[in-house]
Amino acid sequence: MRFIELPKAKEKIPILGQGTWGIKRFKNRSYYEQWKSSLKKGIELGMTHIDTAEFYGQGKAEKIISDIIREYDRDDLFITSKLFPNHLRYKSMKKAANKSLKRLGIKNFDLYLIHWPSPFESIKKQMKVLEDLVNEGKTRYIGVSNFSVEQFKKAQNNLKEEILVNNQLHINLSKQKHIHSSLPYYQKEGVIVTAYSPLGHRGFTNLGNVLKEQLEGIAKKHNATIQQIAIAWLINHSNVITIPKAFQLKHVEANAKAADIVLSKEELSLLYNSDIN
Ligand code: NAP
Repeated sequence: MRFIELPKAKEKIPILGQGTWGIKRFKNRSYYEQWKSSLKKGIELGMTHIDTAEFYGQGKAEKIISDIIREYDRDDLFITSKLFPNHLRYKSMKKAANKSLKRLGIKNFDLYLIHWPSPFESIKKQMKVLEDLVNEGKTRYIGVSNFSVEQFKKAQNNLKEEILVNNQLHINLSKQKHIHSSLPYYQKEGVIVTAYSPLGHRGFTNLGNVLKEQLEGIAKKHNATIQQIAIAWLINHSNVITIPKAFQLKHVEANAKAADIVLSKEELSLLYNSDIN
């Protein structure tokens, strides 16, 4: 596994983590056991960053992750969760963060994000919540998700001492806007960008013909699948990490291998298309 350094910290996180948006409520035991096996396999293969949110499965994802955390040394895992923007007051935001920690069964998050920018609550108050959580030892790092560069700068300007180390954004081969428009800013500032939905949410089973052909050509050269190349394309950009979601073990194994794929400049640019939003 390759690692990337968090800004202004001596700590490194793996460039590949694991997403958990797919975890559903009210399923049978074997469904949850399968999820746990897949996440554990991912951890064993070095994908020790697990991304979740209070929103995923209305808390069920965090509960499933808690069962896994118990089986490992806490320091070997990097847990990210997110605050959903429907909590309107300072107190309810703090309460939601504490509930997430309780469901996860941990004392602190490694990274805690504001899931979406909120039109209802001031950024000042949201940043105060994040900063207070750091000061109380409830999260080690803070960041945001789905923020534009302007929103990111505004959020950062409302922090007194802490810095935002991360913006989690929708980026994949079919959603390239941020690669072309905002990534250069984050690279300059040393902020980590997490590319979410790296496989277009459905495993890139419905790609357009041109992109599919280009991917297939590159995949053949690397003896890889198109999904592995799609993941490799993301993490071959500096400051970018990603968090594919995989329920199936074979997908987990394939994703971990994508960390080792090095694409040439020509291969990277063959896949660029600045018209794709
Ligand atoms: P994704 O990772 O883009 O795609 C998941 C789909 O790809 C699943 O159907 C999975 O199949 C399939 N897949 C995974 N690896 C594969 C492989 N090697 N070969 C073929 N197919 C493969 O989906 P996502 O869940 O939308 O995004 C990933 C994570 O990003 C989420 O789980 C969540 O943690 C995060 N996220 C964040 C936000 C946000 O607003 N911040 C929004 C969306 C997502 P199986 O599951 O059957 O194995």
